[in-house]
Amino acid sequence: MFSTNFAPSMTTGKKYDVVITGSGLGGLLCANLLAMRGMKVCLLEKNKQFGGNLQTFSRDKQIFDTGVHYIGGLEKGQTLYQVFKYAGLMEQLKIEQMDERFDKILIENDDQVYGQAQGYTSFQNNLVGAFPDEREGIVAYCNKIKEVCSSFPLYNLTLNPSTAELYKGNNESAALVIASCTQNKKLQAVLAGNNLLYAGDINTTPFHVHALIVNSYIESSWKCIGGGSQIAKILVASIRKNGGEIFRNRAVTSIKEEEGKITHVVTEDGEQIKGSYFISNIHPAATLAITESALLKGLYKKRIVGLNQSVSSFSIHIVLEKRPSLMKTAITIFIKRGRFGN
Ligand SMILES: Cc1cc2nc3c(=O)[nH]c(=O)nc-3n(C[C@H](O)[C@H](O)[C@H](O)COP(=O)(O)OP(=O)(O)OC[C@H]3O[C@@H](n4cnc5c(N)ncnc54)[C@H](O)[C@@H]3O)c2cc1C
Repeated sequence: MFSTNFAPSMTTGKKYDVVITGSGLGGLLCANLLAMRGMKVCLLEKNKQFGGNLQTFSRDKQIFDTGVHYIGGLEKGQTLYQVFKYAGLMEQLKIEQMDERFDKILIENDDQVYGQAQGYTSFQNNLVGAFPDEREGIVAYCNKIKEVCSSFPLYNLTLNPSTAELYKGNNESAALVIASCTQNKKLQAVLAGNNLLYAGDINTTPFHVHALIVNSYIESSWKCIGGGSQIAKILVASIRKNGGEIFRNRAVTSIKEEEGKITHVVTEDGEQIKGSYFISNIHPAATLAITESALLKGLYKKRIVGLNQSVSSFSIHIVLEKRPSLMKTAITIFIKRGRFGN
């Protein structure tokens, strides 16, 4: 059944260099970088709004972010700053630095608020203030994070692995490494307190996932003024300026192979969009489900489709009534399950 709510067909008969499915941050960034390099890019998004988790919505004149609430590593010279600058985002992005304590961890039946602060010195001092006997463990934890992050060349924007001592402990669990730094259960919970950021799971999450994400926020934490959707808007404009084409309300329903090569995708309205290269920026299982190719072995498909999903989150966005003593503010409550540290 075909919906009538599609963008006018501008893709018929064309052949693009690259066809990208999904306009989340990954798809937008790829499309922008490739278009900047002169490639003929077509980006297809199934939703009305571009951006995936960068989408915002508003209620009572308050803007709410659905996904990207704060961003790490955006200070001049830091990794994401350099990526965003290269993509042409930094000149236009309206951001503000978060409070020194970018995350505040609350623990059941405990009135204290535990801060995670920006900058390693502040991060350590804040926690030592709350856990004076645990200085050694806190320092060991910070050193371990820095050590792990320095052994991922791409994370540090270097392509030459020989310049870094590559990380060997891929299977070290985050929970076990944290426990090796401190026996204090409450401190363990505070260190793992923002694990929603990476869907942390006590049994499966490796330490490097924890370290790479937490490190970027400790380096510096930022918020988009007016919501994260501005990232999507800037990238969409840049893609178009660089000759790329980007369409909303265009769900890709199949990815087709002919003679051992992917040749085109088909959209929900039945249109075939041809390209030389194809990038799928949607869930791997969803990609496999729509890929019609004899090259993909059944066993491989079964393994990917059978992988455990990470935890879900349920957000409640609340606008509080304005009162003289109470600033109008929005609270996001995440209800999670199955993670560690709380
Ligand atoms: C609740 C929550 C809070 C988060 N908070 C933060 C945060 O504070 N800071 C931070 O840095 N990160 C945060 N993240 C993570 C961040 O939002 C994501 O990592 C990032 O936005 C993911 O981008 P993506 O490009 O991988 O995919 P997505 O954003 O998932 O985009 C995928 C896109 O593909 C489209 N699509 C799917 N199927 C098709 C199809 N068949 N055809 C065409 N289009 C299709 C979807 O509609 C979507 O637009 C959060 C995530 C969540 C869920």
